[in-house]
Amino acid sequence: MAEVMYRSTRGESRTVAAAEAIVNGIAADGGLYVPTEIPQLTIPWAELAALSYQDLALQIMRLFLTDYTEVELAAAIEQAYDAKFDTPALAPLATHGSVHFLELYHGPTLAFKDMALSILPHLLRLAAQKCGLTQEVVILTATSGDTGKAALEGFAEVPGVKIIVFFPEHGVSPVQKRQMVTQAGANTYVIGIEGNFDDAQSGVKAMFTDAQLRQQMQQAGYVFSSANSINIGRLVPQVVYYYYAYLQLLSQGKVRAEQAINFAVPTGNFGNILAAYYARCLGLPIGKLICASNTNKVLFDFLTTGVYNKDRQFFVTMSPSMDILISSNLERLLYHASGENTAWVKDQMTYLTQQGHYQVPSTVQTAMSSFVGGYATEEATAAAISSVYQQSHYLIDPHTAVAYAVLQQYLADSGDPTPTVVVSTASPFKFAKDVLEAIAGQQPTEDEFTLLSKLAQTAAQPVPAAIRDLPTRPILHKTVCEKDEMRQVVESILQLS
Ligand SMILES: *Cc1c(COP(=O)(O)O)cnc(C)c1O
Repeated sequence: MAEVMYRSTRGESRTVAAAEAIVNGIAADGGLYVPTEIPQLTIPWAELAALSYQDLALQIMRLFLTDYTEVELAAAIEQAYDAKFDTPALAPLATHGSVHFLELYHGPTLAFKDMALSILPHLLRLAAQKCGLTQEVVILTATSGDTGKAALEGFAEVPGVKIIVFFPEHGVSPVQKRQMVTQAGANTYVIGIEGNFDDAQSGVKAMFTDAQLRQQMQQAGYVFSSANSINIGRLVPQVVYYYYAYLQLLSQGKVRAEQAINFAVPTGNFGNILAAYYARCLGLPIGKLICASNTNKVLFDFLTTGVYNKDRQFFVTMSPSMDILISSNLERLLYHASGENTAWVKDQMTYLTQQGHYQVPSTVQTAMSSFVGGYATEEATAAAISSVYQQSHYLIDPHTAVAYAVLQQYLADSGDPTPTVVVSTASPFKFAKDVLEAIAGQQPTEDEFTLLSKLAQTAAQPVPAAIRDLPTRPILHKTVCEKDEMRQVVESILQLS
């Protein structure tokens, strides 16, 4: 099998093996690592359909991570995808009406980030060995709510690693916040910032590419890495469940082999939907990739007009993990859609930083035509939660509801008969208040934690074990900082200077 190497979207000439790309997180020129060649999955459908999630993961991940041995990958997969997930299927498909929901929230933090972040620590540990790293790895992460907890859960107590998470102090749900600030583990640091997710992400990116800080780190025996979806080690494991969804439909006789399906994906940083794009490149028959945004509809505007403009009002919505105006992984799509034109990608990204916007030519827009943009207002999101519940007694969280609402609009506009999977990214229990309010049509008065039991009654299912004792867990992290103080906080944690 040919070795797959990784290069920067912004043209830095050095290519690196997967292990180094995973350790680095981001390329030195600020670009994102992309595979120089996208492999093909050539195993026959009948064989694929017989594989467990773990065996499928091995077949897909070995294509991308060619510098890992199969034994290493199999061990990482076994440790990641185990009883931390509350169902042996890991990513079950639930069909209600004509819509299939791919439930990616059965992991330890109840959001789809677990699918990748339960394996990333193992991939990173192996990568550090392969690269002969002697320094301690510092995972620096910005979170819109779910990445932070999933990364903390994955990296807590991992030897040779410290993890520092920045989250928007006023921009995550009460359950998300409580999950993070109660995180145990001597190597974990959780900091709220007075700013939004984009501020947190920009601050983290700036630290990654700050040569002086890197040098200080080096001297102190540390090296940065990232658990954000800019890390290729996050994206590759996410390709797996798109195949898994298709194979479940195949096994259930709901599609024929090679028949195309669509996916509707609630999108923020563009990581999840980009993994679907890679699945398509690998050979999965995908028709449309429906990119669903909330009121922060920068991607909808981009996909419909070709203009990306981050200078706009920022809204805090009930789908906080999608409250993002700078969708980092879009840079990878620009790279592929422009015919791997790294100089052009670099110019657009510079222009975005300096001017706040960029515009792509029609050739690039055409190359992205399998992506369809849509957005759902807060009202449409609540209505989607309510209508799915009324029709099927099935609960969906606000992120999933955004995708569902956008899918309904797409179907009304296009009449597209293609079978569609809605990617269900969080458990409704993470957003109990908004879900109950959507169903009852009025704002509940109880606090978020009492509402968990109320939601359990409504759903006729128990509160997921992962958050059952949340209200009584001690709060261990109390630091809050201004957005321009992030670097000082890191310096003080690591006792630099
Ligand atoms: C992170 C997240 C998203 C957005 O995924 P991206 O990969 O950032 O596009 C959607 N829903 C939930 C629940 C999330 O945690």
